[in-house]
This record gives sequence, C-alpha cells and structure tokens, in this order.
Amino acid sequence: MSLERIEQWLSQLNQVGQSSSPGIYRLAYTEEEQKVMDLFRRLCEQENMNVREDAAGNLIARREGTAPLPAVVIGSHLDTVYAGGRYDGTIGVLAGLEVIHRLNKQNVHTKHPLEIIVFRAEESSRFGMATIGSKLMSGQISPDRLASLKDKDGVTFPEAVERAGYSFKQITNAERPETDIKTFMEVHIEQGPLLEQKHLPLGIATGIAAPQRLRVNVEGKASHSGTTHMDIRKDALTGASELILGIEESAVQEQENHTVATVGRIESLPGAMNVIPGHCQFDVDIRSTDSTSRTRVYKQFTKLVKEVEEQRGLTIQFDIITDETPVPLHASIKECFSNACKHLNLTPFFMPSGAGHDVMNMAKKWPAGLLFVPSANGLSHHPDEFTAITDMVAGVNVLEKSVRSLASEGHEGAIEEVES
Ligand SMILES: [Zn+2]
Repeated sequence: MSLERIEQWLSQLNQVGQSSSPGIYRLAYTEEEQKVMDLFRRLCEQENMNVREDAAGNLIARREGTAPLPAVVIGSHLDTVYAGGRYDGTIGVLAGLEVIHRLNKQNVHTKHPLEIIVFRAEESSRFGMATIGSKLMSGQISPDRLASLKDKDGVTFPEAVERAGYSFKQITNAERPETDIKTFMEVHIEQGPLLEQKHLPLGIATGIAAPQRLRVNVEGKASHSGTTHMDIRKDALTGASELILGIEESAVQEQENHTVATVGRIESLPGAMNVIPGHCQFDVDIRSTDSTSRTRVYKQFTKLVKEVEEQRGLTIQFDIITDETPVPLHASIKECFSNACKHLNLTPFFMPSGAGHDVMNMAKKWPAGLLFVPSANGLSHHPDEFTAITDMVAGVNVLEKSVRSLASEGHEGAIEEVES
C-alpha cells in the first residue's frame, strides 16, 4: 500500500543526516546531501527511471513517454536546514516517486515523458541564498552572484561545488530550454497552521506571496506632557498609531485576496513617560500573491499619510526598503489540481504560499503549480516537523490524477486513441 511504502521510503531517506542531536543535517552541497541524493537515485532506478545529474548537481529522473514531447515534471528538494525536519522537501520528491510507482504497476504509458527533479541547495542555511538549484535550472542567477556566497566556515560557493565534484565554471549549463518542460508541479508541507485548523488534507497554492516593506519616519514635536495642551500637540506616536490602524484596516479590506499587512517594529523617542513623543519610526510589511491588491493597500497608506500629516501637523516620510514581485501560479495547473480534487471527493481549497519554494523559480519559465499538505502545529524547519502520511497520500492522489491528465495517459494499446 502507498502508506507503508511512503513511510518506508521516508525513513530510509531520513536515516541520512542524523546526528547525536535531534533533527536532520543535510546541508547544501555537503556529503550528506550527496548521500541522500544517491539513495534517491537508487529508488528511482528501481522504478526503471533513467537518472542523471545536471551541471549544478540537480538530479533528474526520467520516465520516457510514447512521443517526443516536453516533460511533465514533479520536483522538490532533499537538503535541510540545520536540525531540520523529516518532511520539508523530502515528501515532495517522494510524492513524485509514488506516482511513478503507481503508473508502473498499472502499466500506464503517458504520451509526455515524466520527470522527478531533486533540486540542490533549496534551503538558504548554508550560503544565505535559497532555491539555488532551481534558479540555475530556470536561468535566473548569474555566476558572479553565486561566486560571492560563503558559508559560516568561509567556504565559498564555488569551492563547495568543486568539492562536491561539479565544475563551477560549467554550472550555468544546468539551465534548460523552455521546450524541455511542459509543466512543473511541487508538493510541499504547508509550514503554516491553516490546513490543520481547517481539518483539510491539502491546499492548492494560488501563488507565492512577496513582501513590500516600508520604513516610516514620523516627525512631530517633543514637549512636556503636563504643560502642553491637547490642541497644540504634535504627537508623533499617536500619528503613527493612526497609520498603523489604517494599514491594518486596508489589509482587512483585501482579505479575500489573502493580502496581509503587519507592523512588527516601532520605536518612539525620546521614550520618556512625561514627554510627548517627537519622533517615531516603524516598519510595514505588506504581502500578497496579488500585486494589484498589494498596491491598493500601499496606495491607501500613502493617502492616509497625507491626511495624518495635515490633520496633526506632522512630517511623515517613508522609504520602500523591499519590493519583491509576487509569483502567480498557472491557472491551468490550479484548475487541473482542482478537478483532481473534485474527482477524489475532496473540496479544493485555495490558499497563498507565504514562503518561497523551488516552484517559484520554475513558474517564471514554465506553467507551474504547488500543492500543500498540512504541517502539524504549523511547525517546520524543526526536528518536530510532522505531516501525517494519510494527508500525504491525499496529495499523491491529486498529483497522480493531474500527472495523468497533463501527460495524456493511455494504457498499452490505447495510445493511438489518446493521440487521435
Ligand atoms: Zn522546502
């Protein structure tokens, strides 16, 4: 049964990177990462897949189709953070393997080739940069940028790559042409509490949210709290408060677009009980998968800034300190997942991804989708990370249906019918 098989594969893979302390250590481009990838290679070979590594060390396991067409690809990663969990990344590649196993068992031949990709260096723990393998495959990173990376022991990224047996000079050869791949799909743990709270086995990601961050400075006038009448005050903190409540309200108005806004840091000066605050600085973090919705929150904020400035006689200035672009996931894949859910009597549940994954790089070049399975207590990057295998099987079921439809399945003898 799927359940026992996945459980067994999972414990096999997770024997790699164990140490005397709790958690798993399979850092990017270390021996442990290589070891786990070699083990996964053998599992793929047992399923009659052809396995190769690209110039960056990404593992590509392939099951040929009946026609020379672009591949339908499933991928994730096997590297972990320091003291990582058993599920982050690992279940994504195992979901792919289980789909292949089922197709083999049922003697299903797809028109499009199928691939499982294990990306290198998804976690930023070692080099301070995440999703390196998928950045290289989708051609989104320059060698210069990679050459500047170092780990905590001073080992540079090129050195680590060479030590692992790859050539840094050749590394950009990992980039694949658009025509190689038809679609990309990833199954990942949610790393948040939403699915568990809603008692849902899986979620369909609408896109990868990206942050816009502002640093806001409010200038008023510091003066005596006892002798300054209320009508002549220029209180920077009460002005900032109005702005903070305002931005919260704007994000609430955008709830259906899953836009969120947070002020997580505030500083008020001079910071004395008997002095009206003359200066206040705070940071705003606005995130959404929907750029238009995020821009609406931003615009509301700039409007409010002007109002508060005028009404309270304050000077308010702000800088945009981060402005990343949200990555939408492809409508056709979302629909495919949604149809698969309906076939399996599961209610499709759409949700944004608050964290980045390999799929966000692949989505910039190919139609891509992301399925979430629940994380117990929303916990991840932690030894206690847990996802029930029954939930993972639900994810595999949806993935299998989607693969079959995207790769145009056909049983032996039925291929012609599918093609015509
Ligand atoms: Zn991950």
